[in-house]
Amino acid sequence: MSDSRRPPEVDRAAASRRAVAARRERAALKRDVSTRVITPQELLRRGLADPLSAAGAMRVTEFLTAIPAIGESKRDRILASLGISPVKRLGGLGSRQRDALRAYLDSRWPEPGPREGRSRLVVLAGPTAVGKGTVAAHIKEHFPEIHLSVSATTRAPRPGEVDGEHYYFVDDAEFDRLIASGELLEWATVHNAHRYGTPREPIERVLSAGGTALLEIDLQGARQVRAADPSATLVFLLPPSWDELVHRLVGRGTEDADERARRLRTARTELAAQNEFDYRVVNDEVARAAAEVVALAARRPDVG
Ligand code: 5GP
Repeated sequence: MSDSRRPPEVDRAAASRRAVAARRERAALKRDVSTRVITPQELLRRGLADPLSAAGAMRVTEFLTAIPAIGESKRDRILASLGISPVKRLGGLGSRQRDALRAYLDSRWPEPGPREGRSRLVVLAGPTAVGKGTVAAHIKEHFPEIHLSVSATTRAPRPGEVDGEHYYFVDDAEFDRLIASGELLEWATVHNAHRYGTPREPIERVLSAGGTALLEIDLQGARQVRAADPSATLVFLLPPSWDELVHRLVGRGTEDADERARRLRTARTELAAQNEFDYRVVNDEVARAAAEVVALAARRPDVG
């Protein structure tokens, strides 16, 4: 290229900054897929919707290896069998290639759809630090028609927490008694520390009166509720991105390296549970996420 055709210095600097930013954005998206914050299908949808976006500019090779369980040789076999050239970008796939890729993803990692016949027993769960408590508190304040369950716990009250309002604070002997007498709908030891459980009776009262009950509980509890009542509506709260979850988990940086690593491992495992849920709601903004949970809770049992 002759000097006269070379772009001016400032343009080149700006272009290289843009390239770095785009690479970073693609890396963040790949992390969201590998940590299961978003499904591969969702990333493909974004890429197809806007070929100029970070998702659209992603090569199919990068896309496939971001999916847990796909290595480089498997990736190459998949691309060959789907008739897609490795240099293709998501935004540049032809219609037959899109269909083939979508069909392949759906066959291997089906996206859970809402199940039929959901009840008005609604469970809100999600990874640690995603903000379940804040969303539940917002619902309690702004949607009083929804009954927010008050759990029993063996942990001590924090400053400002009121017995019977935030939790029923009980000792170990009382918790043992609640379990033995079948008074808990579910219970679990959370973070290897204290026991938490949902009193059964208030929930049954609300449901039999045609009301909606919301449980903000951990994943083990959500699984028990599903086992006890397969028609319960299970909602999984997701962070807007993996980076955002990491920020919320270790943002203050007060933990040592081992503790950070432990929390991130737990978060990955917790995110992997999302496919067991009927609905997924992104906690990008508390009021919006709360409204979406309420809308799901209000769906009639026969609407599905
Ligand atoms: P915290 O001690 O911060 O109030 O709550 C810790 C965790 O316990 C949260 O993840 C919350 O979802 C969970 N949790 C609160 N109540 C219950 C419950 O009744 N059952 C179960 N399984 N988990 C609960």
